Amino acid sequence: MATVNVVRVERNTHPGIYPILLGLKITFMNMIRTLFMGQSATIQFPEQKRVSSGRYRGIHLLTAREDGTPKCVACYMCATACPAECIYIEAGERPEKSIEKYPTRFEIDLLRCVYCGFCVDACPEEAIMMSRENDLVGTTRAELIIDRDRLMERGKLAEYGPGYRPTDHDVRRPVRIAALERLKKEHGIVPGMPHR
Ligand code: SF4
Ligand code: SF4
Repeated sequence: MATVNVVRVERNTHPGIYPILLGLKITFMNMIRTLFMGQSATIQFPEQKRVSSGRYRGIHLLTAREDGTPKCVACYMCATACPAECIYIEAGERPEKSIEKYPTRFEIDLLRCVYCGFCVDACPEEAIMMSRENDLVGTTRAELIIDRDRLMERGKLAEYGPGYRPTDHDVRRPVRIAALERLKKEHGIVPGMPHR
């Protein structure tokens, strides 16, 4: 028969009033900090905004070239990588030979988006980024389907600034490879593996 080690733990079941006084002291100190020292843990949203990290995954924005046209080349990598299938793109042809396509239509359904950032990871052109904006407000569903022009306008939002925009290509590479494999499997498109 196996022996059992019984561990006896002595607990102080009658700690007295001291822990209660200690808890009251912490509450009192927090009250003083909040009322008289302006160190409130809450903010007056929406007038006040909390400063988010530079990697915050807020509402998207599309970046522009120097001539103001979208950097996006309508390659569908972001739409393919998107797990929520909330990106819709229609492509048009550009006159330049060096840039084949551009998005004539680019929409993101922000009510379906899960803010994972895979679209940013998958983009080979750094054409889509996320901002630090998180107050998503609308009275109809249509208002929260954000189109190309609104996404490009949002690039000028100095108030929030850019958020998630990884430069570490080792992090991005698996997402791109998964998107390329899906393009190949579902649409028969074989664009080659990403160099970075
Ligand atoms: S953040 Fe994620 S869910 Fe939202 S559009 Fe990008 S890939 Fe799709
Ligand atoms: S992955 Fe980038 S370049 Fe390609 S369609 Fe999306 S935003 Fe445009």
